[in-house]
Amino acid sequence: MEHMTDIAFAGSALNGAVPSAAALRVLEALETQGLEAWLVGGWVRDALMGVACHDIDVCCSGSWEQSAAALRERDIDVVESGTKFGGITAVVDGERIEVTAYRLDGFYSDGRHPEQVVRASCVEEDLARRDFTVNAMAWHPQRGLLDLYDGRGDIERRVIRAVGEPRRRFEEDALRMLRAVRFACRLDFVIEEQTAKALATCAPLLDQVARERVGIELNGMLLTRHGGDALLRYPELMCAAIPELAASRGFDQRTQYHAFDVYDHVARVLTVAGELSSSRIDGGDPTSPVSASLMWAALLHDIAKPDCFTVDENGRGHFYGHPERGAKVARDIMRRFSCNNDLIRDACLLIRFHDEPMRPTRERLLYMMGNIAGEGVDTHRLMDELFDLKRADTLGKAPSCFYYVEDIEHMRAMTHELFESGEAYSIKTLALTGGDLIAAGMTPGPQIGAALKRALEATMRGEVANEREDLLAYAISSSC
Ligand code: ATP
Ligand code: MG
Repeated sequence: MEHMTDIAFAGSALNGAVPSAAALRVLEALETQGLEAWLVGGWVRDALMGVACHDIDVCCSGSWEQSAAALRERDIDVVESGTKFGGITAVVDGERIEVTAYRLDGFYSDGRHPEQVVRASCVEEDLARRDFTVNAMAWHPQRGLLDLYDGRGDIERRVIRAVGEPRRRFEEDALRMLRAVRFACRLDFVIEEQTAKALATCAPLLDQVARERVGIELNGMLLTRHGGDALLRYPELMCAAIPELAASRGFDQRTQYHAFDVYDHVARVLTVAGELSSSRIDGGDPTSPVSASLMWAALLHDIAKPDCFTVDENGRGHFYGHPERGAKVARDIMRRFSCNNDLIRDACLLIRFHDEPMRPTRERLLYMMGNIAGEGVDTHRLMDELFDLKRADTLGKAPSCFYYVEDIEHMRAMTHELFESGEAYSIKTLALTGGDLIAAGMTPGPQIGAALKRALEATMRGEVANEREDLLAYAISSSC
């Protein structure tokens, strides 16, 4: 190993994927000092799948101190990022590569971090603690692929399978259950039968996991655009993650507008919203990232339906007030998961207005735009998401409702025109300010706000153009 250089590793590839020069330098630096090092986890999986560009993780036989010394010996910068758990980060030409000592334990998601890391003696032991076969492979440019659990076969079969006995692995770390579903959604794999069975039986163990970690996994799952599949295939786990969802399972809506129970409806809406988000019908960039607010709103839009259910004298079901109530419940759920505040605000606005009757008139649409406005809100984006949600909601109902999609798209187009023509729908978008009114001689005080509000309503009704002079004249005359 003493004579190993970059050249020794150059040209080696796994399924056509070549690790970055930075990663090869790290491997080489470690091995020159007599340590053993491998690329592990996501990079190996993605390389075998033909997916490029993954962060590179390295595992190494040395302690973190030994790895750090070996890297520094070769002038590689080291950040002592996770030394408590045997990890450091090598920084080469701006690229960050995690280097972790072989270890037996790890991945504690319930807040019970071990005081000390238990080192493993060989890479095989390190791989055995990893979660799924597709994530438990190691590769080295010279020693090749180390695949003890047929991860490669599982990639070919498109299967997520626990390493070892699934129940035991989920008992060790319940977060793995959500990881299984997230990977299945992301890679479009199915979860192998025994692993899937264990998901259902071990689902209650999820209570041990910090809510924030659950939230991160759910968010990751939603962003794959396949959250609808997760709901349909792994309902026990999803209801353990979000207990408020459980009441909607099998909940008969008792209306001709719905062909599905609440839970199946939500799954469909999530699927369609994911589709809409990825192939924007308004000509947007199909590669643009999926919107988290739309996905969370789709997941939680009917969360309060079971609580708001009433049956009328004809035996028909109604859910009066479910959007308002749903927005409140969704806020609680998302706060519990420590979602960021802007995301919570946006998702809850969508939920609050998802069922609001809308008509294709200028005034009604401006009012809706006003509803979807507020401090920090990107009203244009969120109106589009509201139309996406309404369209997805419609397509999750009964076929007799599908005609409404055309109306939705008509209203979307009208809304775009309203934005483009600079119409006012909020005090902020009004072409008149309090300062203008004071400059025109109005005394500061609450009357300023009242005058602006009157001017806004007048322009939304179409009585005055959203032009400063016109609005000023209107405000002054209406204040006399
Ligand atoms: P990506 O980062 O693209 O989501 P990844 O495979 O790199 O995928 P990470 O969460 O970054 O996933 O974890 C890196 C590796 O660490 C995984 O491939 C897996 O081998 C292991 N791992 C991570 N979390 C756990 C866990 N909770 N239990 C067991 N192994 C885990
Ligand atoms: Mg990773």
